[in-house]
Amino acid sequence: MTTRVRFAPSPTGYLHIGGARTALYNYIFAKASGGKYILRIEDTDRERSTKEFEQSQIDDMAWLGLTHDEGPGVGGPHAPYHQFERTDIYKKYTDELLAKGLAFYDFCSDEELAEMARKNKEEGTPPYTGKWRDEANWEEARQKIAAGEVAPVRFKVPDQDVSFKDHVRGDVKFPKGMVGDFVIYRSNGVGTYNFCNVIDDHLFEITHVIRGEDHVNNTLRQVLLYQAFGWDVPEFAHVSLLIGADRQKLSKRHGATSVKQYREQGYLPEALANYLCLLGWSHPEEKDVFTIDELKDVFSLTRFSKSHAIYDVEKLKYINGQHIKQMETDELLKRARPFIAENSFFHDQSVEWQKQFIELYKDKIQLLPDLNEKVLEVVKEDISKDESITEVLAWETTPKIKEHIETELNKITANHVSAEIFSQWMDYCKKELGIKGKPLFMGFRVVLTGQNHGPDLKVLIPLTPIEVLKKRIASL
Ligand code: GLU
Repeated sequence: MTTRVRFAPSPTGYLHIGGARTALYNYIFAKASGGKYILRIEDTDRERSTKEFEQSQIDDMAWLGLTHDEGPGVGGPHAPYHQFERTDIYKKYTDELLAKGLAFYDFCSDEELAEMARKNKEEGTPPYTGKWRDEANWEEARQKIAAGEVAPVRFKVPDQDVSFKDHVRGDVKFPKGMVGDFVIYRSNGVGTYNFCNVIDDHLFEITHVIRGEDHVNNTLRQVLLYQAFGWDVPEFAHVSLLIGADRQKLSKRHGATSVKQYREQGYLPEALANYLCLLGWSHPEEKDVFTIDELKDVFSLTRFSKSHAIYDVEKLKYINGQHIKQMETDELLKRARPFIAENSFFHDQSVEWQKQFIELYKDKIQLLPDLNEKVLEVVKEDISKDESITEVLAWETTPKIKEHIETELNKITANHVSAEIFSQWMDYCKKELGIKGKPLFMGFRVVLTGQNHGPDLKVLIPLTPIEVLKKRIASL
């Protein structure tokens, strides 16, 4: 049997990182098992669902590389893939349960329902005790409906324990009586989440449902519905929740929680996907830097952890830095450009200059916008002479280096010092002036950059405008 999994977001907000993680697990599992990954839009909440959110979620998924095999924009054998376009289907299955006596119209008023809830809480009576549950009242209900009245339809929850197997949590058992007769079809003709979800997962031939742990209680209701219809129950994997360092459920106060925010902050999709996969799942070789493509050979449902996953943005930054470092310079340049300030000196330079600059700094940044401060470092004219700089300037060799460079700089008419000329300066100071080791390297660095550390001078100096070098030396 072909594996078929789905991601079923509700378009009521931007794609949350928890949702993106769920989508990733489903996507990778489909690829790892040669199956299909389906996207279904659960837009039955008409008040909160918008097309803008839907589009933004689809864009963010595309950015993460999560392309679906069936779903909006792609089509497929089970279209439509928007729940709101499937209302007739849900009506048909509601009628089926009503006809089988497994569901009933409920005409209880809000006050009656509130009273039931109060009694349930205080006296431990069954959650739903309305009269409409009794078959004896169904003829009356039918007449009301025939007369044009409307009422929600409730599922008549059977008096039985429920259990299901979960790839993360093992055997999950619910004793009977935990859930009351729940609404499956609202009086306004819209199916509820648990009901539509089961029907669609069945009709879409979904084999595995991978989603957040917060859905475990829904699964109880859903298993009852599968059984009522006589349908096979899919396999479940409820992955652990994401929490902040304070062990509270991840929320806005922990920082950015939507994929869009990370995208805008200059994270690479490869890195975000990589990090999200590590939250609640571990690589069989304990690797923490990888690509989604690589996971196709090693991903399995056995490596999920039951404990909550702590979201740590510093680890994400580290992983982002690792992906930046591994990326081909041409590709990195393309990705970096939009994150470098518009009026930056960087954009006025040749492509060759830009490539060398990226190459020089790619193992020294964690986020693409970090390159902005590196550009400033290259063009910075003034030198702050802190103690460590003054110390190097006081070495007897440093003024000799400074004098040589100053003389040589004045001979150059180009805008930049070539790498060859820079090497000649060093050779001269080494061979003719006899300066070696630390006095040579530190002397050059301090005189030319005003810093006591930094990237490879042989690359940095040819990237630095000659006017900048002159000003720095003059200010020493
Ligand atoms: N629309 C539901 C959600 O966004 C789907 C849950 C599920 O995967 O069943 O939480």
